[in-house]
Amino acid sequence: MKFESKVIHAGIKPDPSTGAIMTPIFQTSTYVQDGVGKHKGFEYARTGNPTRSVLEENLAALENGKYGICYSSGLAAMDAVMQMLEPGDEIIATNDLYGGSYRQITKVHHRYGIKSKFVDMSRVSDVKRRFGKKTKMIWIETPTNPMLNIVDIKAISKIAKEKGAIVVVDNTFASPYLQTPLDLGADIVVHSATKYLGGHSDVILGAAVVKKKAFADQLHFTQNAVGAIPGPQDCFLTLRGIKTLHLRVERACKNAKKIAKYLQRHPKVSKVYYPGFKEHPGHEIAKAQMRDFGAMVSFDLVQDRISVAKKVLQGTHMFSLAESLGGVESLIGHPATMTHASIPKPERLKVGLTDSLIRLSIGVEHADDLMEDLENAFMEI
Ligand SMILES: *Cc1c(COP(=O)(O)O)cnc(C)c1O
Repeated sequence: MKFESKVIHAGIKPDPSTGAIMTPIFQTSTYVQDGVGKHKGFEYARTGNPTRSVLEENLAALENGKYGICYSSGLAAMDAVMQMLEPGDEIIATNDLYGGSYRQITKVHHRYGIKSKFVDMSRVSDVKRRFGKKTKMIWIETPTNPMLNIVDIKAISKIAKEKGAIVVVDNTFASPYLQTPLDLGADIVVHSATKYLGGHSDVILGAAVVKKKAFADQLHFTQNAVGAIPGPQDCFLTLRGIKTLHLRVERACKNAKKIAKYLQRHPKVSKVYYPGFKEHPGHEIAKAQMRDFGAMVSFDLVQDRISVAKKVLQGTHMFSLAESLGGVESLIGHPATMTHASIPKPERLKVGLTDSLIRLSIGVEHADDLMEDLENAFMEI
């Protein structure tokens, strides 16, 4: 089945009791059993819920995996994956990681004895060089957030395999429509379904997808033992959002291409970060491992001052000033004070995350309206 059909049909069957074409929201905590030890596959709703099962099966299909495991948020999914490590183990992660993921590694897992290194993974040789005896997991984000660097998933998975480390890809920014890391050698895909999968800024949900049963068993165990599960209503909303994933991402990518070009020509903009540009250092890898270049665009201002950035951020009307990304509506954000405020300034500056860097999540509105909105904001500076 092609991706465009999978989003609508994979794992989804009409409800056997009524014929309802939409997956019902099974708002129940428990299931009546036919007899002692005899049930219909569901015993207690932390362990399993039919709405959730459908979403899990659908996500597994979208990522070309075998098992989907859903959690109450993207960070809960990350935590479940991190629990596969033992004290003393080390994780190597992308250096310009999502702020919340960086915080979880450094403020939570460090306390339980997990060590970490943050590496610029756009240089594959650096990843190889930084491998240690205790390196058990590689955590990739690509495109990265907010600098939009590209990491070569295939090359890094190959090195990790040689060294016996698990490769995890946070596929939130690309979505499975643009990129399927399991096909490139990764072991685990993690999602904040809050973003493109849900797509309508109305739900917080996370997921992990794997091919190997041994990984699935570990993740199911943590899902049940820790209990960070999504509710059935949230699973329903995510399923509903996924049905138009391909249409939304395709349009958003088209808009992003136009807006990136517009920004590149703009006299008040000093630099545009967008992997669709030929001169972007990761362009060729992006072309090889992605279907399109995504709908996130970051840019820096000629005047590198927080006060100037603020004027642009407050000057847009169609672009809403908000955290998050991947919804139908366009958002504008200031990584230094919003999504990446938990990363110390010297760390931020090392990757080019200046005080005047602005990040756009391009939605599916008309590109002309979005450019006009930005132009009006630029007139404020
Ligand atoms: C938002 C986000 C997360 C965290 O997901 P939540 O659903 O907010 O917990 C993780 N990784 C990336 C890349 C994100 O954008």
